[in-house]
Amino acid sequence: MNADLHCHSVISDGTLTPEELALRARNNGVELWALTDHDEIGGQQRAIAAARELGLPFLTGTEISVSFAGKTVHIVGLGFDPDSDLLRQGLANTRGGRDQRAHEMADQLAAVGIRGAYEGALKHAGNPDLISRTHFARFLVETGVCHDTHEVFRRFLTEGKPGFVPHRWASLKDAVQWIVRSQGVAVIAHPGRYGFTANEEFALFSEFKSHGGQAVEVVTGSHTSAEYVTYAEMATEFDLMASRGSDFHSPDESHTDLGALPWLPGHLKPVWDALQHRVH
Ligand code: AMP
Ligand code: MN
Ligand code: MN
Ligand code: MN
Repeated sequence: MNADLHCHSVISDGTLTPEELALRARNNGVELWALTDHDEIGGQQRAIAAARELGLPFLTGTEISVSFAGKTVHIVGLGFDPDSDLLRQGLANTRGGRDQRAHEMADQLAAVGIRGAYEGALKHAGNPDLISRTHFARFLVETGVCHDTHEVFRRFLTEGKPGFVPHRWASLKDAVQWIVRSQGVAVIAHPGRYGFTANEEFALFSEFKSHGGQAVEVVTGSHTSAEYVTYAEMATEFDLMASRGSDFHSPDESHTDLGALPWLPGHLKPVWDALQHRVH
């Protein structure tokens, strides 16, 4: 099935509205869609309504920022109750430190001669609560400092580079439990992106499972074909279901469009089989 269970709207760091994404997903042949804004579920009702209008099956979604082993890990939640107070409150707390962090990022950029980055990034943030590195990246492209956002993340905003501010996000345990206790399924997002050692990765998968996590993204926009194989094996080894999602942010920036992904390897258990009863 052409399921695309990972993308972002203007409610976090995407450039399209939930309605535009729903239409693009449908036009690209997506058969099951989820909108997974970072640390925020404020777009879910709009996505549900837009998908219903188009006859596009939809699962609720979010992507929670978690601190684990000194790095930021993303946990996707799918199929939860969007009215869950536990999840709402947890996400509100997770979003809390972003504004302060953004000021500190701007101070660092000012120290290397880039002025006005806070205000510049904020202009790109559809939701000021969710000001993120992506909005700073767009500002640095807009002002001609970098050619594209990929160059930004090579030269700025990442560990050891100007504009990187370490941040304490949610714990793995809390993020998984907010999702699971809200009738959702927790998914390790793009595991190939973290640069963990084998030991750290083993710890992530084991602890994730021990807290009630049930799935892992195998086919995602930022994985290589070798990583599809690696994480298919990890899914089998840890008895996790498998998910598939483009992580689409913007027609101008994302190299993987909605729905434009290889199929999940056939021997894996697709996460959507366990979420039939949660489809809108
Ligand atoms: P934040 O939550 O503010 O730390 O911002 C994280 C977001 O920045 C991610 O969700 C991506 O959209 C974007 N991002 C982070 N690293 C990269 C990278 N190396 N290349 C492109 N985008 C990135
Ligand atoms: Mn993002
Ligand atoms: Mn992510
Ligand atoms: Mn994402």
